[in-house]
Amino acid sequence: MECELTRRHFLAGAAAAMLEGSACLASIATSADPLAEFEYGAVELTGGPLKRQYDRIHAGYLALDNDRLLQVYRERAGLPAPGVPMGGWYDRDGFVPGHSLGQYISGLARIGKTTGDPACSAKVTDLVNGFAATLGPKDQSFAGPNAEKVWPCYILDKHLAGLMDAYNLSGVASARELVPRVFRGALPYIPERGHDRIGKKDPPYDETYVLPESLFLGYELTGDRALYDRAIAYLLDRDYFDPLAAGENVLPGRHAYSHVIALSSAGKARLVLGDEKYLRTMKNAWGLLAAQQQYATGGWGPNETLIEPHKGQLYESLHTTQDHFETPCGSYAAVKLARYLLCATGDARYGDGLERVVLNGALAVKEPDSDGDYPYYSTYGAQTHKVFYPKKWPCCSGTLVEAVADYVKNIYFRANDGVAVNLYAPSRLTWREQGTAVMLTQETEYPLGESVTMRIDCAAPTEFALQLRIPQWTAGTPAIRANGKPVRTDVRRGFAVVRHRWKAGDVLTLELKQAFRTEAIDELHPETAALLRGPLVYVEMNPADGTARLPHPDDLQTADKTPGTFAVQSGSRTRLFSPFYFVQEENYTMYAQMS
Ligand SMILES: [Zn+2]
Repeated sequence: MECELTRRHFLAGAAAAMLEGSACLASIATSADPLAEFEYGAVELTGGPLKRQYDRIHAGYLALDNDRLLQVYRERAGLPAPGVPMGGWYDRDGFVPGHSLGQYISGLARIGKTTGDPACSAKVTDLVNGFAATLGPKDQSFAGPNAEKVWPCYILDKHLAGLMDAYNLSGVASARELVPRVFRGALPYIPERGHDRIGKKDPPYDETYVLPESLFLGYELTGDRALYDRAIAYLLDRDYFDPLAAGENVLPGRHAYSHVIALSSAGKARLVLGDEKYLRTMKNAWGLLAAQQQYATGGWGPNETLIEPHKGQLYESLHTTQDHFETPCGSYAAVKLARYLLCATGDARYGDGLERVVLNGALAVKEPDSDGDYPYYSTYGAQTHKVFYPKKWPCCSGTLVEAVADYVKNIYFRANDGVAVNLYAPSRLTWREQGTAVMLTQETEYPLGESVTMRIDCAAPTEFALQLRIPQWTAGTPAIRANGKPVRTDVRRGFAVVRHRWKAGDVLTLELKQAFRTEAIDELHPETAALLRGPLVYVEMNPADGTARLPHPDDLQTADKTPGTFAVQSGSRTRLFSPFYFVQEENYTMYAQMS
């Protein structure tokens, strides 16, 4: 369903219209914005590496045991609590008891809406009902002492998002009235006003500033003004958003993930409050992250801390820590920020960044096992390997399923005059263009291959524009053909615009030439670099020597056996280079000295 509600409607406080239209408000952009997200269900993945991971995550989270997930909640409520304790962070006396239940519900609701798998909505229904049964007369939703005392806002954010996704995507009618109940039940534990989390040494660690996005969404869903008021109270304006909007670099030293996910609260505040200050906040934060904080993968925050620029700290981090990027959480935060910026600006460079952190971040993590062992930090040094976090069920177990469930949100965006194609991945989009049902089917071997084919099916010939993101790394001029004939295109904010009267069976093809290149770790260490080809970071697989230099890009040759893997001859030895997302158990080296 498309939503035509505008910000002006919203600001007019049309509460009735708001409640009627609430199902489509979750991702509404202001009417003036060039792009908007499609709803879950409009896009499906049909092949390729994103789908392979998506299917494994779908199956893995569907197999989680409901009794085990609910145990800490039932125990706290004095109810029978069968099942083996989850262990790790999730336990009653764990670091953040029951923290990720809402995220597992969100992920399954999103995957269920996308795939139509009835098992997902059935599980979401059971988990919401099971959770609701533990709330008690005070609607207390925290599963243990650390949840109440140390992390109430962090967990409330996940509970609210899970309930809203259950209502909007899985048809769990009761979940809507749980939103204000769970919020009110949390009031004795959450502060009146927001505060920043400076350092990690002293509790409370809680992160009030991640919560406004969910509170605004909860207000839009229920019309409950108390959620709106608390959202405003938790916006980190004075310490963070305002200085960023003014161009001040306040990132160094801050906790990385929570301050990047907080920018989604700025994104939502812009839409709800109509204040363009928040767009400047997001743009400037993005610019600082890209220019000063980022590794080649799009990750940031060694030891979860944003660095001081111009001091060689990224280079140093390669030798002083293995904990370079909190990958599932960080990727989720970066991608959400990129989507807010893409919608607000229509500028493809945010799509470039989104693609980088999806393909080298979320897609490149070690596959979780079935009992709580999860990827957390990615490591970008030499002679290393991918590991699980030592404690079971960390934060990243919650964001991993959300990040992967959202892959379908990253591929296509609705434009005023058609559709923008942001990611090249085998997939199918269905939408209505001026009332006509249209299907776009994309086939490609990308990111390993260079050509993309898009086939249009529509009930009647329809004129609209397809915008194709032209990545900044593209080597040479991209070739675009409609039904085999070259077409001239305008490039608008990094998107090539193909306007056409489309009819069923029309085929559009795109060739994006990829070449190897290197990117230095930071400006003080231009000799230490990562190897990239197109959007992918390449690593040396099973390197013989941790001090080996990067090959010259021209010397890399296609290795026959594995598409995507390249080889270089070094004396009698063949050195192999593969995309970072290929790595499972192998040793690898990412950053190395240039030759
Ligand atoms: Zn995490």
